[in-house]
Amino acid sequence: MKQMDLILAAAVLASFVLGTAAASTAPELSLARFDCGKSSTLNDVSRFSDVSAFKGLNVPFTFSCYLVKHGNDYLVWDTGNPPASGSTPSPSAPKTSLVEQLAVLHLTAQQITFVGISHYHGDHVGQVASFPQATLLIGKGDWEALNETTPNPGVNPANFAHWITGGGKVEALPGDKDVFGDGSVILLNTPGHTPGHHSLLVKLKDMGNVLITGDLAHFRENYDSNGVPTFNTSRAETLASLDRFKQLAKNLNATVIIQHDARDIEKLPAFPASAK
Ligand SMILES: [Zn+2]
Repeated sequence: MKQMDLILAAAVLASFVLGTAAASTAPELSLARFDCGKSSTLNDVSRFSDVSAFKGLNVPFTFSCYLVKHGNDYLVWDTGNPPASGSTPSPSAPKTSLVEQLAVLHLTAQQITFVGISHYHGDHVGQVASFPQATLLIGKGDWEALNETTPNPGVNPANFAHWITGGGKVEALPGDKDVFGDGSVILLNTPGHTPGHHSLLVKLKDMGNVLITGDLAHFRENYDSNGVPTFNTSRAETLASLDRFKQLAKNLNATVIIQHDARDIEKLPAFPASAK
């Protein structure tokens, strides 16, 4: 009888130890949304279609950035418009900075491990310089465009001066990037809006898979109709990227969030709450 008790106790202890070990191998994963610019309604979205698809369409437009927590590591995804400053701030400037929003979550800029940038446009890179200690993750095509001697209009190298001058760590991504090495958070190579454009996949435990577009599409009407903005760098790459993204969304049964569409970002809980 005593021996049985011992065996039982050993079995209970073993399952406890194994259970604890299993739990500690899966770091806590969550996804929060930051306000990265003032929302408005675009009364003329004609430049978002190279086939004149949107005559008279009004679209609720917003600017959003994201925070992925993976255990004690953090990824900031896109950095939005620069915050309001000076006497005539941009009408789309956010009221509070990313660093101030992080403080609400009791986090500092120094705790951000990675800053992932979907592409080099100004409304996605406005606050990247707030995270100089983070490893910059950016598509290779965009990184090369930022490093051109005479960058094209719309490319914003000044914000990346810290990394361009060799002051910070950078990974220029030729393809997808498994950010934390466990398949839970992946930057997806979706070129076309810009040469190195990326989107973001986060595999949450409770909410399930979430796909965040970057500017692969700017609003639902364009996403649904495979629309290509007039200012994209490649029509063919945009269509191929939309095809890949939509197949991924279907096969992973993912929630799609279009970053600029005010109707879409509500799929995540309001800041400071996060989806898990
Ligand atoms: Zn863009």
